[in-house]
Order: sequence, then C-alpha cells, then structure tokens
Amino acid sequence: MPEAKHSSDPAKRAKPSTTSRTGPQVLAISNQKGGEGKTTTAVNLAASLAAAERRVLLIDLDPQGNASSSVGYPRGAAQRGTYDLLLGQATLAEVVHPTELERLEVVPASTDLAGAEIELVSVEGRESVLARALKQAQSKQGKGKGVPWEFVVLDCPPSLGILTLNALVAATSVLIPMQARYFSLEGLGALVGTIERVRASLNPTLSVEGIVFCMFDRRTNLAQQVVSEVEGHFPGQVFETVIPQNIRLSESPSFGKPALLYDIESKGAQAYLALAKELLERQRDRASTTTKRAQS
Ligand code: ADP
Ligand code: MG
Repeated sequence: MPEAKHSSDPAKRAKPSTTSRTGPQVLAISNQKGGEGKTTTAVNLAASLAAAERRVLLIDLDPQGNASSSVGYPRGAAQRGTYDLLLGQATLAEVVHPTELERLEVVPASTDLAGAEIELVSVEGRESVLARALKQAQSKQGKGKGVPWEFVVLDCPPSLGILTLNALVAATSVLIPMQARYFSLEGLGALVGTIERVRASLNPTLSVEGIVFCMFDRRTNLAQQVVSEVEGHFPGQVFETVIPQNIRLSESPSFGKPALLYDIESKGAQAYLALAKELLERQRDRASTTTKRAQS
C-alpha cells in the first residue's frame, strides 16, 4: 500500500468540529480529485439533512453545474447564481432558489461561473469573497437571528483554484468523499495539505467533518485495505456509513432530483439518509462532550 502524503501526527490535525451558535454550519464537500463522489454527496447529503428537518442551503461552486442540475436547475435555468454572488453583483438572498424539497434551497452555478476563476484574480481578498457574502447575509438579518439555514453545503470543483479556496475559507468544516481506491489516497493526501495551509493562513478554525467512502464495493479486498489505511491515518474521522455503488444515485441527477425523491427505497438514497443521521449524531456527541468539559 502506498503512503498517502500527509504529515506525521493525524491526531493533531483532527480538530473536532463544533456546532456554532452564531451561524450556520458551512460544510465544504471537497476533494481535489474528480469523480470521487463530491457532487453526489453534496446533493444527497443536503437533501437528507433537509429530510431530517434541517434547513439547508446548497451552493454550487463547480462551473460544471452538476449539483444545480441534480436539484432541478440545468444549465441556463437560473438567471443568477454563484457567479453573481462571488463577483458582488447580487446578494445571497437574490441568488437563492427553491427546490422540490421544502427545506432545501440552492444557489445554482450560473453559466459564467467558469469565468469567475479569472475575473476574481483582480479582486482584493479574492479567497474570502464567499465567506464575506455569507457573513454579510447573516448580519443583514440582524438582531442575532442569523440566516435561516442550519447547514450550508458547498459543492467544490475538482481542482485547487480560487473557487475551492473560497469554499475552504468560508467553511466551518470539510467533508471528504473518496473512493476506496489506490489513487484516491493521493487525492486525500493533497487535500489534507491544502487544509493545513488554509488553516495556517485564512481560516484557522477549519475542521475536518469526516471522510466518507463512496461508490463502495464491499466485495473487493483492496477496498477494505484502503479503508483500514485511511482509518489508521485518521482515527475516528471515517464515517461508519459507506455509500455503496448504486445505479439510482447516477440516474437521479438526470431527473433533476436527489435520490430520495427519485427512489427512496434505493440503497443509495438510504445510505445518504444514514450518513446525515450519523453526521447529526456525531455533532450531538461532540456538543455534549464540549458542554461536559465546560461544566467540569
Ligand atoms: P465528483 O463530484 O467528485 O466529480 P460525482 O459525484 O459527480 O463526483 O460522481 C462521479 C460519477 O459517479 C457521476 O456520474 C455519479 O453519478 C457517479 N456516482 C457517484 N456516486 C455513485 C454511487 N455511489 N453509485 C453509483 N454511481 C455513483
Ligand atoms: Mg462534482
């Protein structure tokens, strides 16, 4: 097995994330490698949290716009979206769109998002425009009420450009989807390096929400070996829930629906509902540990 290229002491890196009372939790769904399950996870986790009665905002930061089309906004369907928000041409409230799920809203990737990478180069504090837009929306609501969402889920593109950096700077935590494959370990190593750099500079409190294995095939030994390897490096950070390979998860985007609206009985939809449940439980456990610590 190859060594993933992350540095020596995972325990030090493994800051647990805590629920913030001052604003929504911002989850960046990130992995610098393409095809690992980011978009599928962003969409279906967001939908599953909404099904668990949390108010959720999904922001599509990938110019490919697959998350947008997966919740009913194919290319061109929305006039304004992430681009307008990042370039300061619209407020958050102006780019939020409803979805078929009552508690899930989306900021779609409008067509020109690909241009944002270049246009942002000349903007001061270009890595922090998303963070600033979210903060501004929060303060606008005034009187400590904050924005209506408990979770903001960011679907990141598969590269370390200005869009991914904006996600990592705006995020409270990073959730890492990955496949249980040999080459996926390199992607994980690269991301961990990026997270460390972002912590050292622009977002010191960024934590790791966890690592989730996607498109998982239990039958292969290699998959089990990769899981053990990652668990060894990141104790306590790998979600127990794994997302199996499931055809419904790849079919539902073309119907503009998260899997739970397309076929709720499917293994894929059920796995993401279980992931949302596990995430909420882990956060509850962490919150109660923090409270106990504060009281003792
Ligand atoms: P990324 O956003 O990291 O590039 P995607 O979520 O778009 O990855 O997934 C890549 C491809 O694999 C897509 O075609 C998607 O529909 C498919 N896919 C993702 N997860 C699953 C799964 N659990 N089972 C079957 N197909 C999947
Ligand atoms: Mg994607």
